[in-house]
Amino acid sequence: MSRVVQKFGGSSVADADSIKRVAKRVLATKQAGNDVVVVISAMGDTTDDLLDLALQVSPMPAARELDMLLTTGERQSAALLAMALHDLGVEAKSYTGSQAGVITTGKHGDARIIDITPGRIHASLDEGSIVIVAGFQGVSQDTKDVTTLGRGASDTTAVALAAALGADYCEIYTDVDGIFTADPRICPKARQVPQISYEEMMELAASGAKVLHLRCVEYARRENVKIHVRSSFSERPGTWVMDLADISPLTDKEGNPMEQPLISGVAHTLSEAQITVVGVPDRVGEAATIFDAIAARGINIDTIVQNVSRISSNRTDISFTLETADARAAMETLTSIKEQVGFEEMLFDDQIGKVSVIGVGMKSHPGVTARFFRALADAGVNLGMISTSEIRISVVVDAGSVQTAVQAAHAAFGLDADGEAVVYAGTGR
Ligand code: ADP
Ligand code: ASP
Ligand code: MG
Repeated sequence: MSRVVQKFGGSSVADADSIKRVAKRVLATKQAGNDVVVVISAMGDTTDDLLDLALQVSPMPAARELDMLLTTGERQSAALLAMALHDLGVEAKSYTGSQAGVITTGKHGDARIIDITPGRIHASLDEGSIVIVAGFQGVSQDTKDVTTLGRGASDTTAVALAAALGADYCEIYTDVDGIFTADPRICPKARQVPQISYEEMMELAASGAKVLHLRCVEYARRENVKIHVRSSFSERPGTWVMDLADISPLTDKEGNPMEQPLISGVAHTLSEAQITVVGVPDRVGEAATIFDAIAARGINIDTIVQNVSRISSNRTDISFTLETADARAAMETLTSIKEQVGFEEMLFDDQIGKVSVIGVGMKSHPGVTARFFRALADAGVNLGMISTSEIRISVVVDAGSVQTAVQAAHAAFGLDADGEAVVYAGTGR
């Protein structure tokens, strides 16, 4: 008997009818002879709504209490799915992350899974039950408090369970047919890819393609779990995320080998802000002091640029991007070290976006940067900060230019499909 972990995202369980539809799909997998473990997200935009509610009650809610609140979203949908399955005449049991044995670090809002102790899941599967686990949550090993794993992290719960339970693969059901060459919500000519390597998917996710949570892909690569991303609204085959070595080379309709595309996808994010520290004294150790202080607050930095010192004053400007959600804490931290470092002022801009092109093909092909920048220039998009990795080039642009930039890059690398990509549901929030 094979064992399958299926994860359904918020847009797939947005209302009562959707939950009943998902229940039928889960039952069909069970009836095909599989042990089924379902990981479920909160209904629709519930997590955002709960966050808004918390902020109405308190501008700075305690992280522990926020986790207590947010975990209820997944708990609701898990229980409701179990009820829908009961009505279809099948045994099903829902569990919170903690009950399912998802053991985490203690960092509220961004906890890491450190162990899975799936005793109760095994017991329920042995009884012939379908098991439903509330995604995105666990319990801290140290404090025994309930934790959440970061926005979008139900994907990570699913892959972690698939690894711990030795599942054959992990299915991630969402509101598009699979992984596309760009977000189909802003690039209608995006093309679905049948397979993609863990490495490319990690870069896409890290660059803003929220179709998969970054840590879920990292986990899958480490534990060698194959992921099948597909739509819960259609029966079409989705996209397999797997080891590069297992990916079959592209062929044309007659089966002849085709050249691999240079770029496998274009990703974007609007969730970052840019801070510029102006007039930092050009002395050894000043940058270290600034970033030490920011790291001490647990804030991650993305792109960093230090410009050439202004010769007259022997000072330099340091700009960096970070998640907008962390910007306030970063500005507070910088204010607290302003005197010590002796910089002049700080500038803040949250009207930015980042557009990235990603592909293993760029390792061996020169000219990718030139083609990318030419496409943006022809589309009238002005470039801000630039950063690269071995298989990625990213540029910061005005928030208002992101869609134009994504579409221009997509076309320039020959990725445009003939038809329009389908987006089945969701608000894109
Ligand atoms: P779920 O609620 O199922 O977890 P998400 O909203 O987190 O769904 O992720 C699915 C969304 O990811 C899609 O609706 C799409 O707008 C977005 N997305 C961004 N980049 C891509 C991409 N390259 N391929 C597919 N979807 C993408
Ligand atoms: N409900 C959580 C969120 O909206 C987790 C998830 O959907 O994966 O971030
Ligand atoms: Mg998601």
